[in-house]
Amino acid sequence: MSIVLPDLPFSKDALEPHISAKTLSFHYEKHHNAYVTNTNKLIAGTALENSSLEEIMQKASDDSSLAGLFNNAAQVWNHSFYWNCLEGNGGGKPGGEIAKRINADFGSYEKFVEAFKTAGATQFGSGWAWLVLNGDKLEIAKTANADAPLVHGLKPLLTVDVWEHAYYLDYQNRRPDYLGIFTDKLINWDFVNSQL
Ligand code: MN
Repeated sequence: MSIVLPDLPFSKDALEPHISAKTLSFHYEKHHNAYVTNTNKLIAGTALENSSLEEIMQKASDDSSLAGLFNNAAQVWNHSFYWNCLEGNGGGKPGGEIAKRINADFGSYEKFVEAFKTAGATQFGSGWAWLVLNGDKLEIAKTANADAPLVHGLKPLLTVDVWEHAYYLDYQNRRPDYLGIFTDKLINWDFVNSQL
């Protein structure tokens, strides 16, 4: 058993004009694929060779000698999750259960958006911003580099990649603009609801 690069849940031009096919090609075929390749190299012939991706992440997170494996395995997971959080005609106010929970835990959709975008904009260097469930309560989180809420006992519901490779071809240094488009135009709320 090895870790497999999952298919993208949409075509490469499905997020245009907000995220270009060029960005998606590099991001998926080069970056995401490289994390898969590296993870498989690092688990080959080890006790983790037949483990699930989630098991690999947790074991590697708990053992500092496996930091390189953690970084690659978590980036495989994070990117697969990120693609599922995106759709071409998404974003804006959600419906369903997540809408009720956002109002209950953040006060309003607008306050949620502000907190989510702030987390993404203030993550210094590379990383991720997240909407997570901590027990029964929604929270905003941000993680550096490959770090993932999953290994810290939090349930991820939504993420945005704020590594420069996610937006630089389309937005250059304007990370806040990318975050605004992400929340206004790209969030797949059906997927977020499905994770509750
Ligand atoms: Mn990325």
